[in-house]
Amino acid sequence: MEKWVYKFGNGTAEGNAEMRELLGGKGANLAEMSRIGLPVPPGFTISTVVCDWYDNHGKSFPDNLSTQVEQGLAATEALIGAKFGDADNPLLVAVRSGARVSMPGMMDTVLNLGLNDQTVEGLASKSGDPRFAYDSYRRFIQMYADVVLGVESYLFEELLEDTKQNNALTHDTELDITQLKNLCNAFKTLVKNELGSPFPQDPNQQLWEAIHAVFSSWMTPRAVIYRSLNAIPNDWGTAVNIQAMVFGNMGEDCLTGVAFTRDPSSGENVFFGEFLPNAQGEDVVAGLRTPLPLTICSKEKLQSNDLALEEIYPDIFAQLERVRQILETHYRDMQDIEFTVQKGTLYMLQTRNGKRTAAAAMRIACDMVDEGLISENEALMRIEPRSFDVIMHPRLDPSAPRTVITKGLPASPGAVCGQVVFTADAAEKSAHNGEKVILVRLETAPEDIHGMYAAEGILTVRGGMTSHAAVVARGMGRACICGASEILIDQQAEKFYVADKTINKGDLITLDGSTGEVMLGAIATVQPDLGGNFHRLMQWADKIRRLKVRANAETPGDVRIAYDYGAEGIGLCRTEHMFFEGDRINAMREMIMAEDAEGRRRALAKILPMQRDDFSELFSIMAGTPVTVRLLDPPLHEFLPKEQGEYKKLAHASGLSLEKVIQRVKALQESNPMLGHRGCRLLTSYPEICEMQARAIFEAYAEVSKQNKDSIICEIMIPLVAIEKELKYLKTVIDQVASEVEKETGVKPSYKVGTMIELPRAALQAGEIAKTAEFFSFGTNDLTQMTYGMSRDDSSLFLSHYEKRGIIDFDPFSTLDIDGVGALVELASKAGRQTRPALSLGLCGEHGGDPKSIAFCHNIGLDYIACSPYRIPIARLAAAQAAIKQAQIKTD
Ligand code: PEP
Ligand code: MG
Repeated sequence: MEKWVYKFGNGTAEGNAEMRELLGGKGANLAEMSRIGLPVPPGFTISTVVCDWYDNHGKSFPDNLSTQVEQGLAATEALIGAKFGDADNPLLVAVRSGARVSMPGMMDTVLNLGLNDQTVEGLASKSGDPRFAYDSYRRFIQMYADVVLGVESYLFEELLEDTKQNNALTHDTELDITQLKNLCNAFKTLVKNELGSPFPQDPNQQLWEAIHAVFSSWMTPRAVIYRSLNAIPNDWGTAVNIQAMVFGNMGEDCLTGVAFTRDPSSGENVFFGEFLPNAQGEDVVAGLRTPLPLTICSKEKLQSNDLALEEIYPDIFAQLERVRQILETHYRDMQDIEFTVQKGTLYMLQTRNGKRTAAAAMRIACDMVDEGLISENEALMRIEPRSFDVIMHPRLDPSAPRTVITKGLPASPGAVCGQVVFTADAAEKSAHNGEKVILVRLETAPEDIHGMYAAEGILTVRGGMTSHAAVVARGMGRACICGASEILIDQQAEKFYVADKTINKGDLITLDGSTGEVMLGAIATVQPDLGGNFHRLMQWADKIRRLKVRANAETPGDVRIAYDYGAEGIGLCRTEHMFFEGDRINAMREMIMAEDAEGRRRALAKILPMQRDDFSELFSIMAGTPVTVRLLDPPLHEFLPKEQGEYKKLAHASGLSLEKVIQRVKALQESNPMLGHRGCRLLTSYPEICEMQARAIFEAYAEVSKQNKDSIICEIMIPLVAIEKELKYLKTVIDQVASEVEKETGVKPSYKVGTMIELPRAALQAGEIAKTAEFFSFGTNDLTQMTYGMSRDDSSLFLSHYEKRGIIDFDPFSTLDIDGVGALVELASKAGRQTRPALSLGLCGEHGGDPKSIAFCHNIGLDYIACSPYRIPIARLAAAQAAIKQAQIKTD
């Protein structure tokens, strides 16, 4: 016979904490608390399997469930010494939901079940407190009618309020016995009037209807929506916990409360909680009465004049403190508990791992290591890597009021406020004048880079998580929201519209890059403090991880930040970002306008010294670690002006006619630039670009190596390779320059030439390509784009529909698609290493900062991942967690 019901109470239990799938979180922990001897009112749990049965069998139950429920009830009766439905000595029960993971407020609960016109009298004489009995009865009728019978709760609240008003009372606790009896009658009449049938008096009928109601509440629209938002499968089901009632509303020596075993905001090892005297649990939740502080310490922090539980009931507090110690030692984690005190006796109604802020999580993990409760590795597993996003950037003051006008993709974290501007030049000009600005664009282009740099934050209407704006903003540590598609920009009038609001140039808005929320006005922010716990955790992470973490960075400022956050090299220096600064763009445009190789060389010669200085600085900052310089990648037209006025300026500067400039710009336009003349194709058509960049690298090498010999680990990376011969050709060009520079300087550079693997053909031909390539770096932004055939800049327009319809579970540009793109990465890694066993393997797409993708990179044996500077701590932790998990799997 299948077992559906699991009993607990009196120091024993049929379940335990490991059985949360079957018993739900609440049921498993009630069983566990009972096993370890904590005072848990006895009861039993109907398993989650019954919920699934119920949903799949037309809301019916398995045959023998009723027998098992009867047995559970009989065991509870025996332990309590009362009988369910007995007129003289009634047992009352609580019927509570409890899924595998907590779904706060989503499902139903009924308390005081078993009361009727007879048992209420029995309860009155047994407790010697008729007021309490009728207070419980009126609560039960209201709750049962609401949850089980579907009579709206506010109708009962109105009757309650009328009674209080007519008798000039403020609190429910002031109602006397006559008023409570009258209320019970009024409540029953209300039910009869609403439903046409009387309030059920049979306790068994009440029990089974309540069980039905709790199981049905699993499929209510709000629960279904909650699950879809939190990726909880529908077939998990809820359990039903039926437990003897204990009463916090039985008089002045009774109370009910909730507490955390440590402060959930700061993580400080202090007891933290609230309670209400003479009340039942729902009074605390409903917020009708203001709860009182648990400890003198929190009373002082809150500057409250109320007496704390520690002062009023020191004995009860001592019992609670003991329970706190037992629970923490047993669960080895901070607990969130519910308790009730009935006539001076403490009962535990729930425990679970408590939710906490990122700062609290770090402090609790470190403190618990010091207290000998957990190991360093366990501490690392307790931290959600993404929570570093929140702690590393200024964040909105949680108590500040706000008006959210729209939401986009949370592309780069940080809470920033500034005046709206619509062009990069305006952003730069305002920033120059000391103003803080938010750059609002339909989408950003590389030519906007100076404006992005100058702005506090970037807001775009188009673009996904790996669009230009997102990538660049993350790299710079600028807050960014992309794909805010509800926004309509009127560029001419310099305003944007969203919902019913018009935002003009100069208006203040606030962006929260961690949530994607755009808000009106200036919202106060608070600065993060990483603190000692953060650094300890990072040290532990570095000890255990195998995967190295490099940075995607090119400007000296970013490279220094990356170094400070623990980068072990530069994994991707996007040299094109170096072409936009100051007058470099002019030389670049001159180069593009040139008619022949000679003209191009003349223009490139102007850029050479600047590039050389860039690389010198990079090699110096990152001395002793690898620096991977990627040669020019984007199509040339990205460097050209887009507006008529700019054309004129260019004509003037280059000495060409306006017609010639326009003709050249037109000639460079492509239908599909992402698939066009970029990367190694461009370098092959114009090898002089490759020559200039290689020369800048080697001259910098020669210069830096004069002071710091052997400190340079130089890797030159060719983008967008599909054919081995592309790489071979460019390697010849690079090697030629190397020997020239060697002759000129007398310094023989040591360097590797490798390639990005960012095209499916390159992945499939990896074995061939590795004959020439000395390293691979997977460019998973392009590899995702090219594998899906889905533009990385436009995919946000339709991917949200895919997510809503369950076609995809996540954006493949944020989290690596392991089945498709990941399969190519794995295949290419294996093939590459077959050809060249010492081949170094890295990944430098945006996935390098995503914990799930990092775990995959660890598991398939890559050497390193590279990510933007602000994500380096996330990556260090995620790499450590992947190593710990892998070791666990091996030992299991
Ligand atoms: C990539 O394609 O993953 C990559 C890192 O290069 P980029 O984003 O510059 O195209
Ligand atoms: Mg790329």
